[in-house]
Amino acid sequence: MLKPGATVGILGGGQLARMLATAGARLGLKSHVFSPVADDPAFDVCAARTCADFLDEAALAAFAESVDVVTYEFENVPARTAEVLEAHRPVRPNPKVLALTQDRLIEKQFMRGLGVATADFVDVCDVDSLARAVARLGRPAILKTRRFGYDGKGQARIGEGVDLTQALASLGAVPAILEGFVPFSKEVSVVAARGLDGDFRAYDICENVHEHHILATTIAPAAIADETAQAAIDMTRRIAEAADYVGVIAVEMFVVPEAQGERLIVNEIAPRVHNSGHWTLDGAVTSQFEQHMRAIAGMPLGATRRHGSQVVMRNLIGADADKWAEILADDGACLHLYGKKESRPGRKMGHVTRVFP
Ligand code: AMP
Repeated sequence: MLKPGATVGILGGGQLARMLATAGARLGLKSHVFSPVADDPAFDVCAARTCADFLDEAALAAFAESVDVVTYEFENVPARTAEVLEAHRPVRPNPKVLALTQDRLIEKQFMRGLGVATADFVDVCDVDSLARAVARLGRPAILKTRRFGYDGKGQARIGEGVDLTQALASLGAVPAILEGFVPFSKEVSVVAARGLDGDFRAYDICENVHEHHILATTIAPAAIADETAQAAIDMTRRIAEAADYVGVIAVEMFVVPEAQGERLIVNEIAPRVHNSGHWTLDGAVTSQFEQHMRAIAGMPLGATRRHGSQVVMRNLIGADADKWAEILADDGACLHLYGKKESRPGRKMGHVTRVFP
């Protein structure tokens, strides 16, 4: 177990790294942030910084030597980067998790192997295989790049009349999968943590509402049946245990209404703290950020109990953050700004949480 005073190395310097470093400081943990982007928001709040490319092996080795454990705020850490770091220090969650979650095909095969329900999927490498996949799954279906997709990027909906050659070209002719369309009524996520000793704790399942493919609002708890919530937590635990996971994990799921209740379909695993867990900063006994720092440091996990009857988190996207003074003047609002120098449409600039008694 690391002790207060130890240093955590964080790969990536965005808002997630910023909130991890801030939460770590409360526990007396120092953070060393590694990012290639000089004005990244986490650089404002860390004890040490390295601004270098993720493939700069000399910088990676020096970084690893200066920390006690390494973690990451994003899943697209290059395999070679993780390999270099692992030769020096423990990397948590373990890098096998990166290989699993960087590729939608491998991720879905892994979940199916665990008996976790996913959308039907077919591997697509060219127009012929796409045509065969569409014949099998029907329309509408969703074509997704296997790698590097986020916030709806790297996706095309194959509705009636959509030209397959054009759809594939719109993704840039990269390896893809076709997913059967899931007629969901709600999108929910489980944010949970697994400690070094295998202890597992989940927060309340929350409901996520997207606007323009970007998370807009999270409501905790989600309005789903108790059995559905328990099933979601059980699936997440199975995934975390199979991956020998240490840290906070988020699993995004679709809720599909059925004659006899609700069915869950897992969409995606995020091997990190997650936007849908930001509500825990103000709305739970231990925030997801503190929980992640505790887990990777080998410390005991904290209580995940929610404050209040309901917690609502709203993202501040682009110009939304210009209303900071108005939000500060609102008694019930907890404002978090990420300190990003430049506001752009679609860019996550901060969030606001409200905890209802
Ligand atoms: P993703 O990038 O996989 O998180 O997908 C982005 C959004 O697209 C999801 O939050 C859903 O709203 C929608 N979506 C993704 N996959 C499917 C699917 N198989 N069926 C229906 N909607 C989907």
